[in-house]
Amino acid sequence: MSDVYKGYRGEALALLKAQGVRVWSDADVTTTRGQFTGIILPRSETADDKHIVLKLRNGYNVGITVNTVTGIKEIGYREAHYKIPEKEFPYDPRKPRVKLLGTGGTIASRLDYRTGAVIPAFTPGELYGSVPELADICNLETEKLYGVFSENMGPEQWVGTANAIGREIEKGVQGIVIGHGTDTMHHTAAILSFMVQNSPVPIVMVGSQRSSDRPSSDAALNLIDATKTAAESDIAEVMVCMFGPTSDQYDLLHRGTRVRKMHSSYRSTFRTIGDIPIAMVSRNKIITLRDDYKRRRSDKNVIINTNYEEKVSIVYYYPNMKPDIIDSLIDNGYKGIIIAGTGLGHVNKPLYPALRRAQEKGIAMYMTVQTLWGYVQMFVYDTGRDIMELGVVPGANMLPEVAYVKLGWALGQSSDLIKVKEIMLTPIAGEITEREPHNGYLIYQGGIPEVERFVSSYWK
Ligand code: ASP
Repeated sequence: MSDVYKGYRGEALALLKAQGVRVWSDADVTTTRGQFTGIILPRSETADDKHIVLKLRNGYNVGITVNTVTGIKEIGYREAHYKIPEKEFPYDPRKPRVKLLGTGGTIASRLDYRTGAVIPAFTPGELYGSVPELADICNLETEKLYGVFSENMGPEQWVGTANAIGREIEKGVQGIVIGHGTDTMHHTAAILSFMVQNSPVPIVMVGSQRSSDRPSSDAALNLIDATKTAAESDIAEVMVCMFGPTSDQYDLLHRGTRVRKMHSSYRSTFRTIGDIPIAMVSRNKIITLRDDYKRRRSDKNVIINTNYEEKVSIVYYYPNMKPDIIDSLIDNGYKGIIIAGTGLGHVNKPLYPALRRAQEKGIAMYMTVQTLWGYVQMFVYDTGRDIMELGVVPGANMLPEVAYVKLGWALGQSSDLIKVKEIMLTPIAGEITEREPHNGYLIYQGGIPEVERFVSSYWK
């Protein structure tokens, strides 16, 4: 197999060879389904021999079945260079010191030549080497803590990240940026809000939905805005900094306990739930949308508390759920269960005996709502009252994932269920709020205050 046809075999190889079309060439491909133009990508060692893969101009990859191809022509050739050199970061004594801790995810990814898949590959050094604007903002130091996609983040990495944050604050950095996969960024943001308390500096989580080798990548904007927030803002909380509107205008800063990934592919995927975001941030300004945030301080009195009980689960109720689901958690030694119930916080009657058994075993159980917006309210229907009698405690307006990590943290502090309940129901970092704002649900869903101004002009 020649190198210019990397990974291609059989029919697919024969087609490319016959027309003299090489991997990494720009090609026009005519098929029975239409015309495609893009770069011929190499194939994985394990892929079939019936497709050629094209990276289209819009950044998406498509697989084209060989027997639909009626014509294929090279229109240009450019060997791809995805390696970005590590850059020495210029030091400016007048600028604040910011630490970038890398954990992985798409923001730290590039395309792998061998498999054609997206893999975590950038070191944080390469990452800022590719976004020179960062040098205008701060003196950036980087450290790669992990290199994983975020489904692989868990208690071990949460503890490691919290300890790393503690060390950096002790060293006197003015802000911390954490590069993270977006899929579970809200879990990590929530647990860090409990493990790292009383931070004197901003702790800003950032990721990207599209890797930086794609033209529509959100990586650079998100990274620049997150770094600006860490360096300059006076918001000393754990936040998520991600695309606000669907276009490249500004990012929103979301409180770590009230944020959730809400769209599988939009860049504007993170939304504040049950509240409004803390601020908008763009290249030249940070506009706060509320003033109840914790302010930056010059001391180093952060409290790092990483005790965590892993035997906690989250049960997403569905109609016809059988009690064996709860039974298996009891039998496997789980110490805490978060239920995401229907409506105001309900599950069906067949679960009651299993819940009673869990109660007798001393398992901590909390109710949250699948609707995400709104509060658990278990006094309205008999169902709610019955479930409370079985030991399930209403979790107010804590988001299910937030309640899940908080319960692990609370059980890490104490095994006394009364103490655990006190911790669970006392807000630490905005995870329970007194009320949800009327404009949060309708207006800020889009993250666009301009829309609110427009709408309010009709409500005189
Ligand atoms: N699967 C990736 C992750 O969460 C997605 C991303 O980073 O956006 O690690």
